[in-house]
Amino acid sequence: MSAEIINGKQIAEDIKNELKDKVEHLVSAKGQPTLAVVLVGEDQASKVYVRNKKLACEYVGIRSLSYELPEATTQEEVLALVHELNERDDVHGILVQLPLPAHIDDDLVIMTIDPRKDVDGFHPINVGNLSIGHDGFVSCTPAGIIELMKRSQIEMSGKNCVIIGRSNIVGKPIAMLMLREHATVTVTHSRTKNLSQVCKQADILIVAIGRAKFVTKEFVKEGAVVIDVGINRDENGKLCGDVDFEDCVEVAGAITPVPKGVGPMTIAMLMSNCVKAYEKK
Ligand code: NDP
Repeated sequence: MSAEIINGKQIAEDIKNELKDKVEHLVSAKGQPTLAVVLVGEDQASKVYVRNKKLACEYVGIRSLSYELPEATTQEEVLALVHELNERDDVHGILVQLPLPAHIDDDLVIMTIDPRKDVDGFHPINVGNLSIGHDGFVSCTPAGIIELMKRSQIEMSGKNCVIIGRSNIVGKPIAMLMLREHATVTVTHSRTKNLSQVCKQADILIVAIGRAKFVTKEFVKEGAVVIDVGINRDENGKLCGDVDFEDCVEVAGAITPVPKGVGPMTIAMLMSNCVKAYEKK
């Protein structure tokens, strides 16, 4: 048996096209949705992410305002910019690309963003809303994983879901979202004993570790759904996930590839959060 390969790229395109249609209809009535993107310093990966986010905005019909600040920008200057963007009526979403240079406190900057404009869903108010099941912004990668499964007709209710990783941006919020979908959730991490046996109990295995091809078929129950969040380079410098795809594809029932799996969904959900911020205004 070979697994169904979940086409995240196609699903992300579908979502962006739906948002594009929605924005076209909304714009005439409400003016253009606007995302402010703040990038500090010269991190090359961050520059690529920011460029891709701006291209997605352009496609969907969201205006993006770009603030590309030099490495030497002080914390006070970044905070002052965030305050200014919070106040502006014509800015609906604010995204500060992380990580910030070491002399700037990421947490302080995130906490300064108006939660109503926090389209990354990192502000503690949005994290709290997610935990208690209130409406708010959900961080984009976990939200994308849920959307990917819904649109692939994967049943989550009552399923045994095991997550590897407990980070604030992936592991913990996806656990909350899977609970919201009525799955039975186990969160594992670097201190978990007998990891492969725990994972083998999963109907849905979500992997966010940051280690190339860490999960092999020994972790996967026959027919399980395997969602690979990882973005790594293998020994040949080729992009790969946290899951050994070739090994697991024979055992899994459905699996996301890397690239073209979870990755494109993250940007699609960012666009969705921007449109939501705009609609709420
Ligand atoms: P973090 O480094 O913040 O967290 C990694 C988690 O994995 C930690 O909880 C850690 O445990 C756990 N872990 C590490 N080694 C092991 C191990 N040997 N066994 C079990 N658990 C382990 O990573 P992120 O959550 O930020 O990202 C994870 C991956 O997802 C990365 O490859 C990243 O690039 C990718 N990513 C992809 C996105 C996308 O858009 N597709 C978006 C965000 C991230 P402990 O807490 O005990 O240290």
